[in-house]
Amino acid sequence: MHTITTCKEASETILSLKRNGKTVGFVPTLGALHEGHLTLMRQAQKENDILICSIFVNPTQFNEKEDLDKYPRTMEADVEKLLSIDCDYLFAPSVEEMYPSENEVFDFSFGGLEMEMEGAFRPGHFQGVGQIVKKLLDAVQPTRLYMGQKDFQQFTLIQYMIDTMDLPVELCVVPIIREEDGLAMSSRNRRLSEENRKRSPLIYKTLIDFLALKDLLSVDELIAIAMARFEALDGFKPEYFTVADGRTLKPIDDLSTTDYAVVCCAVWAGDIRLIDNLILKHPTDG
Ligand code: AMP
Repeated sequence: MHTITTCKEASETILSLKRNGKTVGFVPTLGALHEGHLTLMRQAQKENDILICSIFVNPTQFNEKEDLDKYPRTMEADVEKLLSIDCDYLFAPSVEEMYPSENEVFDFSFGGLEMEMEGAFRPGHFQGVGQIVKKLLDAVQPTRLYMGQKDFQQFTLIQYMIDTMDLPVELCVVPIIREEDGLAMSSRNRRLSEENRKRSPLIYKTLIDFLALKDLLSVDELIAIAMARFEALDGFKPEYFTVADGRTLKPIDDLSTTDYAVVCCAVWAGDIRLIDNLILKHPTDG
């Protein structure tokens, strides 16, 4: 595996590979790699000649400084994992490389998608995500970009960005990879207390209940049950459970009004914020 640290080297390397007819799959990450990340990478390997991953803890997408400071940084272990799956290139730039000017002006429009759910609770987060994904795509110029369904709103926004800016890349979305007990894998899980780790699978169980009860109870009733469940759980605090249209991300209170519905949530487990989602109705369901 070759490690690249500058945008210039990334552009030149990938351009030359593409000139030689190679397809390039790109997996951007914040590091602290786990099986979820590796699944995206294996998928990218299957569908492309070359795999390039990035590890960059992007400061502009953290709306809380403490979260940024405490974000796990495990470069050595990450490199081991990338070697174990035979990754071709690691792009690991510095903050100065990605943000040479402190006065950079950026203002992304996501057509209102950025206002819902995560956007309502993490001001500025999606501006930071848009900013870094655009910079990484400009540098790497991959054939395909791989993102996880785990961050449902994030991939929806990035697809919007690709469409509206007419970026020459195909977005591929990979399903959520879970621990055996159902907890969605996340770099933040390693910071959960033992007690909260044991209780966290209740998030997925609650999403499964949405699916099981969606024809028996109203959306409002389902949300009320879910919120009450976590309000009653020691050490936990639900931020939102939202049933949304999978395209507009606008909340819906009646599943019959759309052919694509998803339930998304954010729950605090102690001082760790966990997000998860489950598709309740898929356009291909008929
Ligand atoms: P992160 O390092 O958290 O920014 O994640 C990098 C990419 O991996 C994003 O596209 C995430 O959606 C994806 N990802 C993270 N966790 C999972 C998971 N449990 N299953 C599938 N994809 C994931």
